[in-house]
Amino acid sequence: MKISELLKQNTLSLSFEVFPPKTETAFDSVRTATEEIAKLRPAFMSVTYGAGGGTSRYTLDIAKNIKQLYGVPTLAHLTCVSSTKETVQEKIAAIREAGIQNVMALRGDIPEALQSTDRNGWDYKNAIELVRELKNSNADFCIGGACYPEIHPESADQKTDIRYLKEKVEAGCDFLTTQMFFDNNLLYNFLYKIREAGITVPVIPGIMPITAGNQVERAIKLSGSFMPQRFKSLVDKFGHDPAAMKQAGIAYATDQIIDLYANGITNVHVYSMNKPDVAAHIQSNLSAILGK
Ligand code: FAD
Repeated sequence: MKISELLKQNTLSLSFEVFPPKTETAFDSVRTATEEIAKLRPAFMSVTYGAGGGTSRYTLDIAKNIKQLYGVPTLAHLTCVSSTKETVQEKIAAIREAGIQNVMALRGDIPEALQSTDRNGWDYKNAIELVRELKNSNADFCIGGACYPEIHPESADQKTDIRYLKEKVEAGCDFLTTQMFFDNNLLYNFLYKIREAGITVPVIPGIMPITAGNQVERAIKLSGSFMPQRFKSLVDKFGHDPAAMKQAGIAYATDQIIDLYANGITNVHVYSMNKPDVAAHIQSNLSAILGK
């Protein structure tokens, strides 16, 4: 099922993100974790591509497994920045052959080794080129794009970031998913600005439950997200106590989701990564609201 169809409903639904294993030996444990999450019957599950430490080789295997065994719609991520046209074409064909209808079209982070090379020689410079390619392929994909309520770290300013985002959407994105954020007001301000700029596609907010004190630094480094004082106090108090931090982090993420729904947002993407217990806790915290 296409995610664009799922997004038409007006009650709260959750989707969960997983990442593929780094090595073949880890494949079975990741498959088991993703199957546990699929059993929660989320609206859809996304499988990252080379992010979160996972290897891109397994993205499609994990996505296919979730779809075939549990019938949960899947969103396969695909990055393009350090790839050739030929490789990307092969990947697109494989996604189509696997019967996956939803693709998250990403540029990917620029690898260290490419940072100082001449960008004119690259097959892909930005996600927009991948969006166009997916749109022009003979598969009828539902295409997602990434967006950044706190602006993309490489952008000079938010106006420029939103201008490029609009071009990307116009090239063929059916929906957008946001980078994680820990203060919902940042999302509300961003939505106001992009709607004003004429971007009308659905935006799925991405919520990351921080369940360990040592996850905080990494999450901020990856996303550049602002940490509100309320969240900092929670980490200060519970960061050294794994069980308490997990409970507090799940409660914080749950609270963000409730506030989003209370403010009219019906689809929330949870960066629960490969943690079925975290996904299950969030879902059960919201059971009456979700009707599950
Ligand atoms: P783009 O849309 O290309 O934007 C990147 C930068 O270029 C921005 O600053 C933008 O303003 C600018 N820009 C855009 N278009 C143009 C243009 N035409 N000319 C000049 N500048 C332009 N990474 C992974 O490796 N694997 C994943 O699975 C993954 N999943 C993600 C999922 C989500 C929801 C998000 C938010 C991020 C994800 N990432 C993933 C990280 C992502 O790859 C990085 O943030 C990357 O640096 C930017 O990717 P993008 O698709 O947003 O790029």
